[in-house]
Amino acid sequence: MRSPKTSDVIVIGGGIIGCAIAYAVAKEGLRVRLIERGEPGREASHAAAGMLAPQSEALHEPRGPFFELCRASLQLYPDFVAEIEAVTGLSVDYRREGTLFLASDFTEGEILAAAYEKQKAAGLTVEDLTAEDVRHLEPALSGAIQMGLFLPEDHQVDNRKLTDALVLAAQRQGVDLVTGWPVLGLVREGDRVVGVRTNRERYAAAVTVNCAGAWAATVDPERYPSPPVKPIRGQILVLQTRAPLLEHVVHSAHCYIVPRRDGRLLIGSTMEDVGYERRVTAEALLRLLAAARHVLPAIEQCTFVEAWAGFRPDTPDHLPILGEAEPGLLIATGHFRNGILLAPITARLIVELIISGRTSRDLAPFHPHRFRPHTLNEGERET
Ligand SMILES: Cc1cc2nc3c(=O)[nH]c(=O)nc-3n(C[C@H](O)[C@H](O)[C@H](O)COP(=O)(O)OP(=O)(O)OC[C@H]3O[C@@H](n4cnc5c(N)ncnc54)[C@H](O)[C@@H]3O)c2cc1C
Repeated sequence: MRSPKTSDVIVIGGGIIGCAIAYAVAKEGLRVRLIERGEPGREASHAAAGMLAPQSEALHEPRGPFFELCRASLQLYPDFVAEIEAVTGLSVDYRREGTLFLASDFTEGEILAAAYEKQKAAGLTVEDLTAEDVRHLEPALSGAIQMGLFLPEDHQVDNRKLTDALVLAAQRQGVDLVTGWPVLGLVREGDRVVGVRTNRERYAAAVTVNCAGAWAATVDPERYPSPPVKPIRGQILVLQTRAPLLEHVVHSAHCYIVPRRDGRLLIGSTMEDVGYERRVTAEALLRLLAAARHVLPAIEQCTFVEAWAGFRPDTPDHLPILGEAEPGLLIATGHFRNGILLAPITARLIVELIISGRTSRDLAPFHPHRFRPHTLNEGERET
């Protein structure tokens, strides 16, 4: 048998997480090989809406380790984007206009009022808006809007442009990109992961990082427990406006609308536990269009461009899986609804683990072993 091709680090999966990690590790001078079964950046990282929104995501519970991780990642974003844009010469449309939440009846207003109190109590920047304030910020919104919340510190990026730029940045940093071959299994020597195999080659490395997103559980089929990640389908549809209709990301109780610089509006999304069924459904399109028309009637004049479905990598507690699963194997996946937001901090933490074996943040809440069956100590009883 041929001897395996060797690098210092193997990254499995060329989504935003794998590309951000590959780039950051290569910058440290290590030899990195990124193995992607298809074309890089064409799965969840392509399907996302690109909201960078810790406060929106934790509207009613803005605290805890996950919220802090999201906030830390958003703080890294301006420098992260500036660096990738400088390295590649590509723009990724990082936008800081902020996010609006809308209420169009009393019950929705009560829910936003409660969220306002929670955000304020946590010391976060939030503004409550009258119907007039809302229309001053976004004149095209419906007269049915009764009040709003403004989160000026939640941002957005064009996730497709960013992922494509990261692929290029990684290559310029010397990452060896192997595409078109899925990793079919991990290679072990004793209790250590020493590489991976595809149908074409074996690849060896001191460290392998599983960044296979919603497919992370499938790259090591012979071994239990594999990371408990499953796909949650999300559908988005896109309309093209003649003149821009919105400046801010807008959430109603039933949809969000993300405006892109070129006049496109992304309207999303669904959360569906349907396995890897990559279908856009009429039901979802009807519901999303109706919800968007309710807050932005002018969409009736827009041109329908496209619709897609993608798979968020979800975990049993909906938190990412970050850290060492076994000697030689790190896991960086399960970013669920926030992988675009969490790419910079994930890359930083994984680099720290690879270089020093330690991290600047406590990764215990995200540790791969938290899902292992609890082994009872002597004297402990199952209840
Ligand atoms: C509709 C929708 C809207 C979203 N909106 C947002 C948002 O607004 N903000 C936000 O932060 N996040 C959002 N997300 C979540 C975000 O898209 C994901 O968390 C993020 O893209 C995950 O990145 P990833 O690199 O882990 O996964 P992916 O982008 O899915 O990449 C995984 C890669 O691994 C490859 N792969 C799989 N198996 C193998 C194998 N055996 N061998 C080699 N390669 C393999 C795949 O081909 C793929 O390219 C959204 C997701 C969806 C679906």
